[in-house]
Amino acid sequence: MGGCSGNSSTFYRVIMSTDITLVSRPLFALVDVNNFYVSCERAFNPHLINRPVVVLSNNDGCAVARSNEVKALGVKMGTPWFQLKDLVRQHGIIALSSNYTLYGDMSDRVMTILRDFSPYVEVYSIDECFLGLQGLGNLWPTATDMGQSIRNRIHQWTSLPVCVGFGATKTER
Ligand SMILES: [Mg+2]
Repeated sequence: MGGCSGNSSTFYRVIMSTDITLVSRPLFALVDVNNFYVSCERAFNPHLINRPVVVLSNNDGCAVARSNEVKALGVKMGTPWFQLKDLVRQHGIIALSSNYTLYGDMSDRVMTILRDFSPYVEVYSIDECFLGLQGLGNLWPTATDMGQSIRNRIHQWTSLPVCVGFGATKTER
């Protein structure tokens, strides 16, 4: 269940190192789409899969999303486009202008799917969401089962890869 990125990765690794039975104490899931803008672009253009891809900010100023291939080249979030041009030539990075209409639509699709998993949904950002899980323990044997089901359904219905972390509070690490 690798491929996690962003702030939730620490959360994910710590909590999932031992499995959790979903019991009637407070429990939250944090669902986070990996490399969200790049993953949205890949959902509609399979030629971008397994290629180094960046999405640029408004007016193509700087990198606001990076595929894992681009992260592996050491490109940091927010790197100005003019500083990337050598790497683009050397490694064939594909740079895309941002399409916030698309990302907003894909975000809505993800959040709609998540509402099937819990009635307690708190949208935290365009690609992150907390689910309240208290009282839902009879639906899933373990947190891993639930997390895997969320990942599978979102991938099947939207093509987006997500990470799911669990904690007793929204800020547990
Ligand atoms: Mg994310």
